[in-house]
Amino acid sequence: FTLNGTKMFTTNAHVADYILTVTRTDRQAARKHDGITVMLVDARAPGLTMRPLRQLGRTATHTNELRFTDVRVPRRNVMGEVGGGWTNLTKGLGVERMSVAMMYAGTAQAIVDYAVAYAKERKQFGQSISKFQAIQHKLVDMQVKADQSRLLGYRVAWMLQQGLPCFKEMSIAKLHASEALFDIANQGVQVMGGWGVLEDYDMELYFRDSRIGMIGAGASEIQKSIIAKQMGL
Ligand SMILES: Cc1cc2nc3c(=O)[nH]c(=O)nc-3n(C[C@H](O)[C@H](O)[C@H](O)COP(=O)(O)OP(=O)(O)OC[C@H]3O[C@@H](n4cnc5c(N)ncnc54)[C@H](O)[C@@H]3O)c2cc1C
Repeated sequence: FTLNGTKMFTTNAHVADYILTVTRTDRQAARKHDGITVMLVDARAPGLTMRPLRQLGRTATHTNELRFTDVRVPRRNVMGEVGGGWTNLTKGLGVERMSVAMMYAGTAQAIVDYAVAYAKERKQFGQSISKFQAIQHKLVDMQVKADQSRLLGYRVAWMLQQGLPCFKEMSIAKLHASEALFDIANQGVQVMGGWGVLEDYDMELYFRDSRIGMIGAGASEIQKSIIAKQMGL
């Protein structure tokens, strides 16, 4: 195969040996979902260039723009059927949703724990700010959202274990966990006041990192469309 084109947003491509690449190998296919082929591309193949992209958060794993100019890929690097990549992709995307949902649930709890510890230590008006009901309520709201994310993730794990279809539940878990994570980080900054936006404290990092969750691995709008379809709407 000879690949030509551009792919925005390829995280960690700059440290990869191979890049799992979704290509269109048949432009005449009757359905848009047909004619898609997945292949492994050597990250050092001639004609493949990368441009690092600067981003708001998650700077430890930056993303890249890839340009393919007459990149040759041997047929043995095709994964699955030529032209039949979509079926496997949808299965993989479901698992990706579940994985990121659990990652966000764990990060959410880390943020709650961090904010609780800070609130207990920080003193204003002669007492820990954790004694102010306004702060307590924020921390409780954060904990409830973190628990919801975790439990929605556990539901998917349980359904997978039982062999039950859970396409809708995967999207619900991802949608909720990513939106909850951003809300929790936002509240976490508020609990910490000005200290929450200083780079000296982890909360600033949590806040920036959490924003991408609602976009990557299928944006919230797309998850809602998937859920709506599964609801027969
Ligand atoms: C930091 C980062 C790392 C990433 N890493 C990877 C990676 O490693 N591999 C990879 O393949 N991708 C990666 N992505 C890409 C990510 O999956 C996309 O950014 C995401 O799917 C949204 O696509 P888009 O950015 O082109 O936005 P667009 O598709 O242009 O969407 C813009 C807005 O329109 C909405 N929208 C678009 N289509 C519809 C629709 N049909 N119905 C309703 N609303 C719609 C979107 O929800 C969004 O709000 C990464 C993105 C980021 C930000």
